[in-house]
Amino acid sequence: ATLPYDDQNVFAKILRGEIPNRTVYEDEWALAFHDINPQAPLHVLVIPKGAYVSWDDFSARALDEEIAGFVRAVGHVARAHDLVVPGYRLLANVGGHGHQEVPHLHVHLFGGRPLGPMLA
Ligand code: 5GP
Repeated sequence: ATLPYDDQNVFAKILRGEIPNRTVYEDEWALAFHDINPQAPLHVLVIPKGAYVSWDDFSARALDEEIAGFVRAVGHVARAHDLVVPGYRLLANVGGHGHQEVPHLHVHLFGGRPLGPMLA
């Protein structure tokens, strides 16, 4: 059972232009913007434009072109910020145990410093 999508979540408001954001990339399928509370020199959030809560929701309901567009946007942001050679980290928090705070699917992209070992 998928959680219902909450139209009032903060990323929905960002997508509607109701809350400002520092956009780094946007296309038909995805929006990427700086996290308001950065945990690394570069901390970008990449979100699909569709109304999806989680990876299970997205992978079950999204069209292949939406999924491709979202994944391509992540790669675009990494290349555009010259992170390919130094490297970077992608992280997705999902649900309660995953400590997801905003119920709109997103990937965190961290870069700009050695990030250390992954935390569980
Ligand atoms: P989560 O725990 O859901 O994976 O992380 C949500 C992220 O969204 C947090 O890193 C938080 O700093 C960020 N965030 C929350 N509200 C806003 C906002 O209004 N604007 C931006 N740019 N980021 C936000």
